[in-house]
Amino acid sequence: MHPSAISKLYEAMRTSLGVLCLALALGSCGPASNAGPMAGSTASVAPRFFDGERALARVGEQLAFGDRSPGSAGHAAIQAWIKDELGAAGWSAQAQSFSYHGQRLVNLIGSSADAGSPYLVLGAHYDNRPLADQASVSQPGPVPGANDGGSGVAVLLGLADVMHPEKLGCRLQLAFFDGEDSGGLNNWDWVVGSTYMAEHLDQPPDGVVVVDMVGDKDLQLFYERNSDPDMRQAIWDVASGLGYAAFIAQPKYSMIDDHTPFLNQGIPAVDIIDFDYPYWHTPQDTLDKVSVSSLESVGRTLQAWLTDRCG
Ligand SMILES: [Zn+2]
Repeated sequence: MHPSAISKLYEAMRTSLGVLCLALALGSCGPASNAGPMAGSTASVAPRFFDGERALARVGEQLAFGDRSPGSAGHAAIQAWIKDELGAAGWSAQAQSFSYHGQRLVNLIGSSADAGSPYLVLGAHYDNRPLADQASVSQPGPVPGANDGGSGVAVLLGLADVMHPEKLGCRLQLAFFDGEDSGGLNNWDWVVGSTYMAEHLDQPPDGVVVVDMVGDKDLQLFYERNSDPDMRQAIWDVASGLGYAAFIAQPKYSMIDDHTPFLNQGIPAVDIIDFDYPYWHTPQDTLDKVSVSSLESVGRTLQAWLTDRCG
């Protein structure tokens, strides 16, 4: 751990946010978010802070693949895209493949160069639900998955941009889970990919954080009840320090999500999720329901939390 790193990054983020608030108050708001040492840089240079605009664009890029559920053409396309995006940020992705109900499922796992401690896993599912069974129409198609699937992947890739795998002082894995969202359809279980990963670990991580449905314009992130209390509070404390009111330190829902298989192995795990989302598992889970500021608040909170542990 490097306490000085967190204080510098944390203060820089707070200062950046303070400048933004002041600009808003004066009616002269501009893109202050990634100003500073990287100002004037090209898009190919890593941003200093998690970039919400880029995250929203990445949600749109995922939706352009159409259905990304197992067996679809988009399923293969998004795997290639995640590998490319990780590669462009300096990360290499390992494919963890396995067979389930006649389908080949693939978790994609990016790993830092450092194999030391702590060992942390940050995860999100990249598949969408193949059937929008919460829809009011009689023959719904797949869930577009802007928020449910797309937002979590965008947050993980945005963190890959700002945390170079060879400069981290910990073992960090970015896990893109397959097969999360087909539960109850054709006898599929939920959280299939994360279950496979949790049952095939070379060593137990010190902590796992899952992001799912974190892009809602009306973002309200309550404590998920099954999550590890200490790690949960630590993340929410970081968000509070950065002024992100979307993180509400009160319990609300209990979820089965990609953190559950790790909890079942006795591993501390947290699910960051806003389950108050009226478009959940409907055809209306589209790009216009997701916002830059919501994605950025989650991305920057996790950047600061991870830098504290891996800086
Ligand atoms: Zn879902």
